[in-house]
Amino acid sequence: MSEKKRLVIIGSGPAGYTAAIYTARAQMAPAVYTGVESGGQLMYTTELENFPGFPEGVMGPKFMWSLRQQAARFGAEVKDQLITAVDFSQRPFQLWTSLPKGVSPDEYKRSEPNRMAEITATIKHQPAEILAEAVVVSTGASGVMLGLENEQSFLGKGLSVCAVCDAAFFRQKRVFVVGGGDSAMEDALALAKFTDQVTILHRRDSFRASKIMQDRVLNHPQIKVRWKTTVTEIIGTDKIERIGLETIETDGKIIKQELPADGLFMAIGHKPVSGVFAGQLELDAHGYIVTSQSYSELGLTRASQALKAGLVQFPTMTSIEGVFAAGDVVDLRYKQAITAAGMGCQAALDAERWLETN
Ligand SMILES: Cc1cc2nc3c(=O)[nH]c(=O)nc-3n(C[C@H](O)[C@H](O)[C@H](O)COP(=O)(O)OP(=O)(O)OC[C@H]3O[C@@H](n4cnc5c(N)ncnc54)[C@H](O)[C@@H]3O)c2cc1C
Repeated sequence: MSEKKRLVIIGSGPAGYTAAIYTARAQMAPAVYTGVESGGQLMYTTELENFPGFPEGVMGPKFMWSLRQQAARFGAEVKDQLITAVDFSQRPFQLWTSLPKGVSPDEYKRSEPNRMAEITATIKHQPAEILAEAVVVSTGASGVMLGLENEQSFLGKGLSVCAVCDAAFFRQKRVFVVGGGDSAMEDALALAKFTDQVTILHRRDSFRASKIMQDRVLNHPQIKVRWKTTVTEIIGTDKIERIGLETIETDGKIIKQELPADGLFMAIGHKPVSGVFAGQLELDAHGYIVTSQSYSELGLTRASQALKAGLVQFPTMTSIEGVFAAGDVVDLRYKQAITAAGMGCQAALDAERWLETN
C-alpha cells in the first residue's frame, strides 16, 4: 500500500529541515526523508562559526540535531530512509524507498548514471511506496575529493572542502589548496588572510582560473604554487600531520616528497546529488537542478526568461509544477548552511502557496 503524503521533503540538511520547520508550522504535515547522510554535510564538520545566532559557535552535528528536533516539535515526520526512485510525470507524484535485493544504499548512492538508471528502472516495477501532492528536493552536493583511500576520515580534521567555512581555523598554519580554477584561487586568497603559509598544488603547469584571479594569486606574497604536483597520501593520526606529493620535473622525472601540513583544502569542484532526478527534472550541464533562482547558468537563463514573461510566481519551482528545490543541489555558487536554510524557507513558502492554490 502506498502512503499518501501532502508534502515530501527529500534531504535532511539545513535546507530540508528549514523547509520542514516552516511547512510543519503551517500545518502541512511534511514527511522528511533523511537519506543515508542524515543531517547532511554539517555532520562532517566540528565547529560551525558563521551561522548567525551562535556567538560561541556550535558543533555541526549538534546544530543539525537541533534542526531535526525543531522540525519534529511542530509535527514533521522524520524518516531515516533514502528515496531511491521518483516518478514526477503524473500527480500525485510517486516515490520509492526500496532497493533491489543485493544493492546496498551505499552502492546505490555511488553508482554511475547508467547503473543508477538500471536500478531505478527495476525499483519502479513495484508499486510506489509514497504518493505525494508536492515535493521539496534538498539533496545537497558533495565536494569532489581526490579518491585517496583514507581521505574521508580526515574531513573536519584538517581536510576541508570549504575555505570560506574553515579558513579561520588555520591561523598561521601550513595549508595546501588543491585545484587550478577560480575556486582554488578564491580559497587560497581566503586562507592568506589568516596565514602566510599557503601553497596551491596544481597538477598542470598553468591555471584554468580567470586571468584576474590568477593575477591576484600569482602576485600575492603569501601564496606559493607547486605546478605539476599531485597529492598521493594523507598522513596523520587524529588529524592531518603530513601529505605525500608527487611532482613532475621539467625533465619528466617524478619527485616524491612528504611535507608537514595542517590543512588540505579541496577546490576541485562540487557534485550536486541529483542522480535520482535525472530524466525527471531539468538539470544543468553540471547536474544542478534548475529553478528560476538557481545560481547555475541555465537557472539564470530560465530566471531571466520567466522574469521577462512576468512568470516568476514560485522561484524555487523546478521544471515540474509542484516539485520545488532548495539548497546546495540548486546552488552552483554559494553553498553555505545559511543560504541553504534560506532557500529551504523559500521552497517551503512556495510549496505552501502552490498547494493552497492547487
Ligand atoms: C566539512 C564541511 C564543513 C562545512 N562547514 C560549513 C560552515 O562552517 N559554514 C557553512 O555555512 N557551511 C559549511 N559547509 C557547507 C554546508 O554544510 C552546506 O552548504 C549545507 O549543508 C547545504 O545544505 P543542504 O541542505 O543543501 O544539503 P546537505 O547538507 O548536503 O544535505 C543533503 C541531504 O540530502 C540527503 N539526501 C541525498 N540524497 C537523498 C535521497 N535520494 N533521499 C533522501 N535523502 C537524500 C542527504 O542524506 C542529506 O541529508 C560545510 C560543508 C562541509 C562538507
